Amino acid sequence: MNLTSKTLWPTIAWTLLLGIAAPPSLQAYIGPGAGFAFVSSFLVLLLAVLLAVFSLLSWPLRLLIGLVFKRKGRGRHKTDISRVVVVGLDGMDPKLAEGFMKEGLLPNFRRLKERGDFTPLATSEPAISPVAWSSFTTGVDASHHNIYDFLTRDPCTYAPILSSADIAAASRVFSVGKYLIPLGRPRATLKQKSKPFWKILGERGIFSSIIRVPVTFPPEKFNGVLLSGMCAPDLKGSQGTFSLYTSKGDPSGTRVGGMRYRVSPSGNCIRTELHGPQNPLRRDGGELTLPMEIRLDPSRNRVRIAVSGQEFELDRGGYSPWIRVVFRPGLGMKVRGICLFHLVRTSPQFELYVSPIHIDPEHPSLPISHPSIYSVYLAKLIGPYGTLGLAEDTWALNEGAIDEEAFLKQAYLLYEEREKMFFKVLERTPNGLCACVFDTTDRVQHMFFRCLDPDHPSNRGKETEKYRNVIRDLYIRMDGLVGRLLEVIDEKTLLLVISDHGFTQFKRGLNLNSWLRDNGYLFLEEGRDESGDWLKGVDWRRTRAFALGLTGVFINRKGREAKGIVDEGEPLAALRQEISRKLTGLVDPQTGQNAIRSVVETESAFAGPYTYDAPDLLVGYNAGYRTSWDGATGRVTPAQFEDNTRHWSGDHCVDPALVPGVLFSDRKIRRDGPGLTDIAPTVLKALGVEQPTYMKGRPLI
Ligand SMILES: [Zn+2]
Repeated sequence: MNLTSKTLWPTIAWTLLLGIAAPPSLQAYIGPGAGFAFVSSFLVLLLAVLLAVFSLLSWPLRLLIGLVFKRKGRGRHKTDISRVVVVGLDGMDPKLAEGFMKEGLLPNFRRLKERGDFTPLATSEPAISPVAWSSFTTGVDASHHNIYDFLTRDPCTYAPILSSADIAAASRVFSVGKYLIPLGRPRATLKQKSKPFWKILGERGIFSSIIRVPVTFPPEKFNGVLLSGMCAPDLKGSQGTFSLYTSKGDPSGTRVGGMRYRVSPSGNCIRTELHGPQNPLRRDGGELTLPMEIRLDPSRNRVRIAVSGQEFELDRGGYSPWIRVVFRPGLGMKVRGICLFHLVRTSPQFELYVSPIHIDPEHPSLPISHPSIYSVYLAKLIGPYGTLGLAEDTWALNEGAIDEEAFLKQAYLLYEEREKMFFKVLERTPNGLCACVFDTTDRVQHMFFRCLDPDHPSNRGKETEKYRNVIRDLYIRMDGLVGRLLEVIDEKTLLLVISDHGFTQFKRGLNLNSWLRDNGYLFLEEGRDESGDWLKGVDWRRTRAFALGLTGVFINRKGREAKGIVDEGEPLAALRQEISRKLTGLVDPQTGQNAIRSVVETESAFAGPYTYDAPDLLVGYNAGYRTSWDGATGRVTPAQFEDNTRHWSGDHCVDPALVPGVLFSDRKIRRDGPGLTDIAPTVLKALGVEQPTYMKGRPLI
């Protein structure tokens, strides 16, 4: 996964938030005004009674539908498996797992392996989480599900856009004085193509519970329940914007990954504002804020915070529980979120971290579950929980807003929530499919992989020895999860523990756009030797190729890109081959190593219908390499290569052959070389459902 596209998100935030205010159905989520909490719980009760009556009255009809379904679902055979449980441990690496098992550190994984099997699981091309999990979900490759990266480019503007969802505001707006009232619904569409296999199960009458599988925002209807995962936004509409309140001399409101706000204590009191989303109702926009008062107790390293009608104490280094915050854009509306507070320090300067404001699962201002009441139901079961797709705030650690300890504390806090949720959901899914993805494994490895390599440039100036065992301990914790899971499943359950990809070091970054510039494929406007973010300042009339995202190179194709100059046919094929040839085996002059292991030409390597708009080339980096930080935000810089000195020190956006994931199964795996696209056919077969012919994967058991 990637957090490099921060500056994009505010630009789409307003669009999202117009959506919050817009349609009657969405308004219901944010509440019509005071007293809503009471009214809504009353409504839930009323709805439950009505549903019970309806369900009784409609029984004959449902019986008929059931019979039709059965006929339609002729592919459903009887099997000795009544339930499949898929646990996704994002980024779990087979080599590390193997090593720790050999050391005897993972007794439960070993037990699972001995009961069934353990094997590497081929990842997707490219090996990026949204791509890989989409292949898990649909059983097809990127050219069939159309997700090639977190981002793609808008061919009309060359600006980055989300690959996973298309979110647009209501097209008509009604204006009353200073207010703008959107008419009609905003459009939120999942851009993933093909069909989730749980939808196929649902058509055969098999129920599924799907928890936090990536690329499920906005949630789609099917026969089951689903909570959205990676790619679900925060309340600002971004993929996670933290706030740091500091008495250090930084200018206020500057964006360094998150937002930094300058505060000045007056005596022992700080009066400031909690910064929320843009006001969707006001013509002049502006941010929604809440007054926040912080009382300092420097002698005890503690503060007392009053915000949004709540008061709580916070010790240095500690986290608050989820704090509910309610913003009021006007017209009696409410926009609700939840966030975590963490007191970084009180002296020599004051620093308070506030996590991105997550959509409140009990009052979601955007749909984050199917049915929409499901996120509320889960909150009633386990209390408030993080809903942001990329919930663990890797960016805050990368930017030095929080330290390693605080990051780990937050990551495991979110992990505990997820585990609690998972076991509750599992209990309530006695038959059918229960799938849950845990992100902790990916995020912790991204941030601490450097500690496995004493020569990692990221170790400079950082504690390494102290965190030497963080990744080992992470795997041990996951082993605990597997242990608890093995205790509660029976022999009629098929258990699969999988990861979408493995991990490798990210020691050196390559800026592909700088390389394209140096090789005469990309040109900057006259007088520039650097571009801005997202290729601002690139001269499109002369540029033949540009990179965008974590592995993609686009050719500036005539007829496809707004200012395309490369003709289709022979000129396009020749250019693709030329760049591909030059990039393969590209040597890093500083280390003498090959930075790029392979390059895939999308249109010849894939057979699916979604190749025309895809990146023309997918770059497979060698172990130790990845796109540089500037490269990932589309900034053309003087140097091609640079050391990676950030906390984010491990990665997987490399040649997929280098980073397979894991597959643990409590049944024997019957095929060699399994891959992610085999999981959907395996689950379908296990539950007696014929796999659709378009799925290229094959059942593994
Ligand atoms: Zn990742």
